[in-house]
Amino acid sequence: MTYQELKAREQQYVMNTYGRFAIALSHGEASKLWDIEGKRYIDLSSGIGVCSVGYNNKKLVDAIAEQTQKLMHTSNLFTTAPMVQTAKTLVEATGMGKVFFANSGAESNEGAIKLARKYSYDKYGKGRSKIITLKNSFHGRTITTISATGQDKFHDYFFPFTEGFDFAEPGDINDMKAKADAAACGIMIELIQGEGGVLPMDQTFVKEAETLCREKDLLLIIDEVQTGIGRTGSLFCFQQYGIQPDIVTTAKGLGGGLPIGAVIAAKSCCDILGPGTHATTFGGTPTVCAAANAVLDIVNQPEFLEEVIHKGEYLTKGILSLNSDKIESVRGMGLMIGIFVNPEERADLVAACLEKGLLVLTAGTETIRLLPPLTISYEEIDEALSIMKTIF
Ligand SMILES: *Cc1c(COP(=O)(O)O)cnc(C)c1O
Repeated sequence: MTYQELKAREQQYVMNTYGRFAIALSHGEASKLWDIEGKRYIDLSSGIGVCSVGYNNKKLVDAIAEQTQKLMHTSNLFTTAPMVQTAKTLVEATGMGKVFFANSGAESNEGAIKLARKYSYDKYGKGRSKIITLKNSFHGRTITTISATGQDKFHDYFFPFTEGFDFAEPGDINDMKAKADAAACGIMIELIQGEGGVLPMDQTFVKEAETLCREKDLLLIIDEVQTGIGRTGSLFCFQQYGIQPDIVTTAKGLGGGLPIGAVIAAKSCCDILGPGTHATTFGGTPTVCAAANAVLDIVNQPEFLEEVIHKGEYLTKGILSLNSDKIESVRGMGLMIGIFVNPEERADLVAACLEKGLLVLTAGTETIRLLPPLTISYEEIDEALSIMKTIF
């Protein structure tokens, strides 16, 4: 089937909720992808930060194959070894308490919001339920997580939205303090706003938000759905900010391509959600946890994480040395990189990349976002840069 034929069928049968690129992907190897017509691409998108260890990664594929032959799924009415192993690794790597497994980023954030509200209810009773998030944030697409998302464009159509969210100005601790009134129970932030445009938070602001949480007994929730699992050069980005969150949520890169999310709670609040208070049918199923264990085996190694930082610096330097007047600035951490361009030129630049065999993402209004597989080779980065050179 040609792309045109497949696309026609898609339009007939699949809801038109995504602005998709005009190619259909067929298979991948390392950080390269091929479309169904045989054209090859260097991939700087990894799904959307999901395929953290690249395509057809032997260790990951073998782990999934082995587990599916043994036991693909069982309910959460039973214990399984892969699930316990994933939780143990995440807890030991973060110094936190316990984990709840979900299936996506939004669902992990839902769990974190429920946990924060119940923490406050158990301790102080009703009336303390507000969670402060940031303007320009992104926390997911469920009714509650779009309510938590600090962008007006998401707050339309789907009324009524979940109550109890307020949005502070990123970097403005006084605004945050003003909103942290007697009705608040938590603060939820991304350390680098991903969908919002690859905008790293100021460290002083983040430390002050942590202090505010300690003073007012608010839970500090760090949304690491995009920044987690080695993306920024540490297993979690918060580890580079010198803070100790109460809750960390993660998802995208954790399963290397299979859907898994996690709510990691500190020892002080990891027993708040007791039996019957929270659940999900597919959460922490042995197959996704076998995948997560393979990903964590690869990523959660000091040498691997150091390489993420080196590759990020190498790619960033390479982009800057294009010396292009189309590029206003380059920001990010590790292999989460934003190229800031003129919003009016962005669509053409992205289309030119696709045409020349380079897959990139966008974010915010002026950012070309790069989230390559963390395993990308220097050769693949060089090839990406040489394509960029012809476009920028
Ligand atoms: C992608 C993302 C989400 C939503 O994750 P889904 O798996 O799409 O539900 C939430 N928060 C952040 C920071 C994200 O980048």
